[in-house]
Amino acid sequence: MTQDYFRKTAAEALRAQNTSEQGLSAQEAAQRLQTYGKNKLSEGKKKSIVRIFAEQFRDLMVCILMIAAIISACSGNVESTIVIFVVLILNAVLGTVQYVKAEKSLESLKTMASPTAKVLRDGARVEIDSALVVPGDIVLLEAGDMVTADGRILENFSLKVNESSLTGESEGVDKQTDVIDAEQVALGDQKNMVFSGSLVTYGRASVLVTATGMHTELGKIAALMNQTQQRKTPLQESLDAFSAKLAIGILIICAGVFALSVFRTGMGILDSLMFAVALAVAAIPEALSSIVTIVLAMGTQKMARQNAIIKDLKAVESLGSVSVICSDKTGTLTQNKMTPQTLYADGQVIAKEQLELSNPVQRMLLKAALLASDATHDEDTGDSIGDPTEVALVMLGEQFGVIEEVYREQHPRLSELAFDSDRKRMSTLHDIDGVPTMFTKGAIDSLLNRSTHVLTSKGCVALTPQLREQIIRINTQMSEQGLRVLAFAYRELDADRPLELEDECSFTFLGLISMIDPPRPEAIQAVADAKRGGIKTVMITGDHKITATAIARQLGIFADGDIAVSGVELEQMTDAELDRQLPHISVYARVSPEHKIRIVHAWQRRGSIVSMTGDGVNDAPALKQADIGVAMGITGTEVSKDAASMILTDDNFATIVKAVVNGRSVYENIRNAIRFLLSGNTAGIFCVLYASLLALPVPFQPVHLLFINLLTDSLPAIAIGMEPARRGLLNRAPRDPKQPILNRALLCNIGWQGLLIAVVTMAAFYLGYQQHDAALASTMAFSTLTLARLFHGFNCRGEASIFRLKFSTNPYSNLAFAAGALLLLAVLFVPGLKQLFLVSPQFGISQLGIITALAVVPTLIIQTIKLIAEKR
Ligand code: ATP
Repeated sequence: MTQDYFRKTAAEALRAQNTSEQGLSAQEAAQRLQTYGKNKLSEGKKKSIVRIFAEQFRDLMVCILMIAAIISACSGNVESTIVIFVVLILNAVLGTVQYVKAEKSLESLKTMASPTAKVLRDGARVEIDSALVVPGDIVLLEAGDMVTADGRILENFSLKVNESSLTGESEGVDKQTDVIDAEQVALGDQKNMVFSGSLVTYGRASVLVTATGMHTELGKIAALMNQTQQRKTPLQESLDAFSAKLAIGILIICAGVFALSVFRTGMGILDSLMFAVALAVAAIPEALSSIVTIVLAMGTQKMARQNAIIKDLKAVESLGSVSVICSDKTGTLTQNKMTPQTLYADGQVIAKEQLELSNPVQRMLLKAALLASDATHDEDTGDSIGDPTEVALVMLGEQFGVIEEVYREQHPRLSELAFDSDRKRMSTLHDIDGVPTMFTKGAIDSLLNRSTHVLTSKGCVALTPQLREQIIRINTQMSEQGLRVLAFAYRELDADRPLELEDECSFTFLGLISMIDPPRPEAIQAVADAKRGGIKTVMITGDHKITATAIARQLGIFADGDIAVSGVELEQMTDAELDRQLPHISVYARVSPEHKIRIVHAWQRRGSIVSMTGDGVNDAPALKQADIGVAMGITGTEVSKDAASMILTDDNFATIVKAVVNGRSVYENIRNAIRFLLSGNTAGIFCVLYASLLALPVPFQPVHLLFINLLTDSLPAIAIGMEPARRGLLNRAPRDPKQPILNRALLCNIGWQGLLIAVVTMAAFYLGYQQHDAALASTMAFSTLTLARLFHGFNCRGEASIFRLKFSTNPYSNLAFAAGALLLLAVLFVPGLKQLFLVSPQFGISQLGIITALAVVPTLIIQTIKLIAEKR
């Protein structure tokens, strides 16, 4: 396939709008073209530092400040003009540093979430970061893998890949190993090649890497397409919109204040302009948007440290609203440490210790268990490779001195039908004493119905309804104890030929092996925590309904009155029936990935925010559909990780609940930081408006307000963003996602707390005016406003009083206060800085005492109100 072909088909992918049934929609494919391969796409899109720096000046606030600087210069206040320009440049530098840091932190998250590749190095199979794959490497592919380099297929076991991210074609493509003929080459047929960006949907293969990175077909297209990625979250967008509206509103009010000052109070044009500018600078929350970004970025870093990698910043916000967590059972809620317990063969149930190899049926059962498995276990080192279910079988053999490798060498695998969650079984073909024999293991319901005979010590007998009943009864008894039950069967074929799905019938039933997979102890606590926080946990599993229900009971997911539904039962339900039963269904068993999508849809119809876990290839659509798609970092396929918005590096259910708590905490912290910043700004607005209406001198110079808004306010705001998550966050229901962040309660708080600060600021202003002149009044107003806002940082750490929150729980907040206070002292007393900030020479220690006493008053009042509320 030539590059032109890909370019054409990629463009088609971008145009096509139809969503495919199982694979990716063309739009998603196009999206993936933009997001996939950090080292490919980001290279082409990275902005230069100069450009980022220049962009910092493209802001309404900066324009207003420029005007302020010009007005200051016109009024002869050159120091002020210099300060404003220095502040503007500093602000741009800070903005640039912050942008670059945010990029870096996103990059590092992406690296953590980037696909890995299994390669042969020095003859050994190792798993490495896909970025480290080089041409000449031999990559081993299996179902669920993402192809991370272009390569030629060397060995092929029914490989099927989805190349929709390149071609827009969602149908899986069968691949060949053979060299293709000239005609196929002419037609652009590359059936013996795999391409970076495609997904393995079936089979296995080994591939010789021919190109990596920007040299792959995907890389070449990526370089051609210069599409920018959307980065802002809904919260950031709504805050940006709010800031823009606020700025316009402020400009209108400024114009009104200017007109009022000139025409009603007879103030000079320059003075009136200073009022208008002071009001604009006081009102615009300069630091708001960067603080929100910083808090979100810190939140994702913290979650990454706690084993949850956030791939999409939007997920942080949605996490706080999650009301339903749909979780896989095996490995997420349970430990995925399978240990065999009992066996059923030849009509009797025995403990695993009682297995007798002299019994031909039991011997055949063990043979099936070891041959129809891929796992290996090294008894000396204790290392096991493979699916834990299969590892358990291999370990069972080892207990009786039967080494799987020896068995497998004696009876090499001639053909196989790999396990998949839809069929729920796996078959392999071996030569047993000259007879091609297929061994199959899997879920009992997928084997028993296909069995016609049973192997007994008396030989092969017909599977009568009575025998069938007996097997089902034994399975129920085992499942009721929460055990996973695997069924085994075999079939002798007439010839040695590649296995086909149609061969999986007319089995001779061998027996059952049950194994225990204990619940994770931390999951029990996490389920209880989630329940307290108004979050319903739903178990979704491929396992048997009875086993699933028993485990769900142990975990506290299934309570009296709850319902367990199987995939078949779910299919028979209409949407209306499902909607009616939904709140009571705690367990879905024997479900297929398509059922997961239906469950997500049903909860979303009720307005719930749904988190869904998944690990398989076919789970990708459900992960995309869920509000928070969660993939498993250890056992999950690359495809599922690609589709998810969060990856658990420990595959643990408790990590999801922790992430939800962190999501709630990040949102809460952002809300508190907004409360802090806006109430401080409101205080400034009230003061300037009051002074202009009463024709008093301007209380603050733009430099004063810039100093507060950009410096002394930013520190406590960031500290508020670092407030630790509290257990109490799970004492309330999830946040309604439709509720705007700036709701009426928050606006009310901002209003009255801003008013309190304004009152003490103007009191300081009057005292200064009385004691001396307008210059001292302005210095006292400015210092009171700064200090009162620094104290206010403690009020905004949370809803509770500071005595309940405790100073020690957020040391950053104490440091921010200390740093802010030191900066203020420097401005008030250090020569040079004093002149720059127009500090009155009359300001001394006694004035410092007065402004401190005044500045603490709003905080005392707010804390007293909180204490009274807590007492009640
Ligand atoms: P969950 O969906 O919670 O992870 P699960 O692991 O039971 O649960 P699947 O992996 O889809 O889900 O397995 C479904 C059923 O298939 C199992 O209950 C078991 O009976 C059977 N099964 C699981 N692993 C294998 C395997 N390696 N070979 C054959 N059959 C298997």
